[in-house]
Amino acid sequence: MSSAREAAAAVVDPEIRVVTIADLGILRDVEEDPATGRVVVTITPTYTGCPAMDVIRADIRHRLAAAGHRDVEVRTVHSPAWSTDWISDAGRAKLAAAGIAPPAPVRRDGVVPLTLAVRCPRCGSPETAQLSRFGSTACKALWRCRACSEPFDHLKAL
Ligand SMILES: [Zn+2]
Repeated sequence: MSSAREAAAAVVDPEIRVVTIADLGILRDVEEDPATGRVVVTITPTYTGCPAMDVIRADIRHRLAAAGHRDVEVRTVHSPAWSTDWISDAGRAKLAAAGIAPPAPVRRDGVVPLTLAVRCPRCGSPETAQLSRFGSTACKALWRCRACSEPFDHLKAL
């Protein structure tokens, strides 16, 4: 039986398949009761526009069952609210490697950072412009690099 935490952390985000729910900070906690074997997984939903949470819940149950954990509860916690700041450095690196510009850090005082912070994930140029507010999913906006002319997805900061 592999650890419940490892199994849950390996669940891939259904919208952005290059990162896991642990990378994104969706996975908040995994507790296993040593006496009963019952596992409680706590997750926090990301963008409300992403209808991915049902898929994530099902994937968590599936992964844990495959790892030998049959008694599983998935709890959804909305507070504190998820933000793109919870994406780990490893997650940001994986996003960039997949050609998705990671979101800029959001200042907690609510001031939106300069969009200049969006760098082309292919060539690193800051000379980028937003083409469309909506990319391949509601979480992403479509951008284009002026230096290499490549369009790319940018994960919206939240
Ligand atoms: Zn570029």
